[in-house]
Amino acid sequence: MSLALVIHGAKDLRLEEYATETLSSRQVKVQVKAGGICGSDMHYFQHGGFGTVRVRQPMVLGHEVSGVITQIGAAVKDLTVGTRISISPSRPCLQCEFCQKGLHNHCLNMRFYGSAMPWPHIQGAFRQEMVIDSTQAHPVFDHVSNSQAAMAEPFSVALHAVARAGSLMGKRVLVTGCGPIGALTVVAAKLAGALEVVVTDITDQTLQRAKLVGADQVFNTSTTPNALEPFKANKGVFDVMFEASGNQQAIVAGFEVLKPRGLFIQVGTGGEVTIPLNILVAKEFDFRGSFRFHEEFAQAVSLMNQKRVDLTPIISHTVPLNSFLDAFRLAGDRTQSMKVQIDFSQA
Ligand SMILES: [Zn+2]
Ligand SMILES: [Zn+2]
Repeated sequence: MSLALVIHGAKDLRLEEYATETLSSRQVKVQVKAGGICGSDMHYFQHGGFGTVRVRQPMVLGHEVSGVITQIGAAVKDLTVGTRISISPSRPCLQCEFCQKGLHNHCLNMRFYGSAMPWPHIQGAFRQEMVIDSTQAHPVFDHVSNSQAAMAEPFSVALHAVARAGSLMGKRVLVTGCGPIGALTVVAAKLAGALEVVVTDITDQTLQRAKLVGADQVFNTSTTPNALEPFKANKGVFDVMFEASGNQQAIVAGFEVLKPRGLFIQVGTGGEVTIPLNILVAKEFDFRGSFRFHEEFAQAVSLMNQKRVDLTPIISHTVPLNSFLDAFRLAGDRTQSMKVQIDFSQA
């Protein structure tokens, strides 16, 4: 048994005792260290779900976690007790049509942590102790903190979005929406060779953090609504746009500054929005979605291990487990926070 954060419905999040699974031969037992609150966790907390997805049974939240191995199964040869790890929440079946094609994020039987999409729901990782498959454990080097190790998941989402775009070498890139995913997309786009990355959002605090991780120019489109005006020249100047807000105004604004034959990658989700098809057609945009990740998780951990990236400016707060309601309140306040993490070793 250990303590877990269990969602029972909108605004009904409880810290409860939760049974730890029994360890099988190809698994490891982990003491969870840090856990980042994601947009989806916030949706479950604030509204009990999103779109048509609803929490219909108690579910442990969380999928962005790091930990330390406390016990290993008999058949696990490549991991040892005491190893600090990032934990991949992606658990595809490896059998279905999409897994066979290497499109694991489209697995027909995906068991992604903390998801109320399937029935029964897939229990999450916001708990002090859990058993995971050894393939989910990605060891981190000593210099990678537990907090940074818990950034591997959202960073994987950004790496996948950039992979969806193909080569960014020498390209001018616009990122709209600067929550953690937008800021991590800046990091990933710069790594991929983007010449210039411009970021928009409606809070200054998040834009300042984007600058710390490599954004060349940032604009607050709430206080400066005409900020993108100069980029409209000659039918638009950006080669690629990553849309991380799910906001209709941001999408429409992007359409005006994206070049003809530009590439539009939608990363942020939201409800339904209206898009100007006349512009999409006339400028011959490629409009692509980007969903989760799979192989990018190992890449994310390698990049941190090799000190190629420093994601710490994106982590705004670390809150002890017993103050979890403060953590969720902070995570919902974009004027103050970027990535809020819970420290599971402090109950
Ligand atoms: Zn996430
Ligand atoms: Zn599958």
